[in-house]
Amino acid sequence: MKTIGLIGGMSWESTAEYYRLLNELTRERLGGLHSAKCVLYSVDFAEIERLQVEGRWEEAGEVLAAAARSLEAAGADLLLICTNTMHKVADQVAAAAPVPLLHLADTTAAAVRAEGLKRVGLVGTAFTMEQDFYRGRLAGHGLEVLVPDADSRALVHRVIYEELCLGVIREESRAAYRAVIDGLVAAGAEGVILGCTEIELLVRPEHSPVPVFATTRLHAEAAVDAALA
Ligand code: GLU
Repeated sequence: MKTIGLIGGMSWESTAEYYRLLNELTRERLGGLHSAKCVLYSVDFAEIERLQVEGRWEEAGEVLAAAARSLEAAGADLLLICTNTMHKVADQVAAAAPVPLLHLADTTAAAVRAEGLKRVGLVGTAFTMEQDFYRGRLAGHGLEVLVPDADSRALVHRVIYEELCLGVIREESRAAYRAVIDGLVAAGAEGVILGCTEIELLVRPEHSPVPVFATTRLHAEAAVDAALA
């Protein structure tokens, strides 16, 4: 079994989910007392969030690159950046350590394609919904990506940072997300990417009229596949 390196803490609410999923999926695959071999480097998310808001991506990338080097030195055979947003600096992280980085947008796009879908909605942070590093990568896999309107994007973003990253799950926010998803479906989305690793703590498949693609679960599945290959 290979050792999975996690660059986490963004937020730790979703990193805890990664840890649970990696172990559950490994047990499902191997049975008995098997669990995932992994090492975790968990950052202080307040520092990263400040760099995001100030647009200091290069510096944030250096923090994650240092984490990648530490994980490689600790024995990681592959790396996960446990957040969609911070894939903005994926190239910087990948260049820091000579072990494969499993890119979350690639994993997600493969899952969408495997369902035979092409036109998908995307919800996540404003960075993920509005910038090219993630949407462009999905488009490179042949997907057509729809995002909510500006007001809805602001709402989705606010709930992530003010609630989900703090472990707060509110019914009102779930209803608001459902309305956003309904809007994407009305605009033609055949599926919806939950493109922020905390969203699946709030939105479940039964809250959507179309298939949802839960990025934390998909990333964990890809990591276990790679670790057991
Ligand atoms: N975990 C979130 C994501 O997947 C947001 C936190 C962050 O900004 O990294 O994008």
